Amino acid sequence: MLMVGEPGRKVAEGAERLNAIMMQVVTVVMHIAPYGVFALMAKTFALQGLGLIMPMIAYFGVVVVVLLLHASGTLMLLLKLLAGVSPVMFLRKMRTAQIFAFSTSSSNATIPVTLRTAERRLGVDNPTASFIVPFGATINMDGTAIMQGVATIFIANVYGIDLGMSGYLTVIGMAVLASIGTAGVPGVGLIMLAMVFNQVGLPVEGIALIMGVDRLLDMMRTAVNVTGDGAITTIVARSEGSLDEAIFYDPDAGIVEEIHLPHRSADSASTS
Ligand code: ASP
Repeated sequence: MLMVGEPGRKVAEGAERLNAIMMQVVTVVMHIAPYGVFALMAKTFALQGLGLIMPMIAYFGVVVVVLLLHASGTLMLLLKLLAGVSPVMFLRKMRTAQIFAFSTSSSNATIPVTLRTAERRLGVDNPTASFIVPFGATINMDGTAIMQGVATIFIANVYGIDLGMSGYLTVIGMAVLASIGTAGVPGVGLIMLAMVFNQVGLPVEGIALIMGVDRLLDMMRTAVNVTGDGAITTIVARSEGSLDEAIFYDPDAGIVEEIHLPHRSADSASTS
């Protein structure tokens, strides 16, 4: 565009205008979305009855328990077996990244924190961390895959659809694929769930049932996703011989020191 001069500039301006229109469309959709979700939930509850509340709580509970089992069981076992490092120390060091992921619900937004944790707190060298962490934040979504698997089985039960053995295998494969395709931003796991539903022949409006509780689950699964990124980074660093154990086992390594802001009066004295 730069090279062709004036006509190129017009194309660039056109793209900017299209962008402005898209942003406006998204704003309108975001304003209407709560009413849409309400209508979808009203329809589902009207058809299925209020008795669905208990199964919904059970769905929530199952996802939380499996997320906890995965983060404190599977991942820690992998860490111990493949990297031979202490899972307790790992969890201690990952806490900041987990809290950040929990509060932002976004693996992508957490990348800087995960990167810093991997390098300064876990002792992974920069070339390994700066490749694995962003890569993991984009495609490694264990928590999201768990939610999508449980959600699909839950909705199939609600609608009385028997998936059968082949259906379950499809769910596993599709949940893994959908989680890889899920962007590391809030709520996308739920959107990708539609793809899984389509594949196994479930009604997409079933998603409305779990939309109400998804924000909380999103916070938790994002924390698990980020824990997975940290664990894999450590394992890869270990296999590459680029893990500094002295840093890994130093509880204070990489802790952000207290920031001393200049005292107010000293500040005003210096400006006056
Ligand atoms: N919020 C998740 C993440 O950023 C993705 C999702 O499951 O919606 O990791």
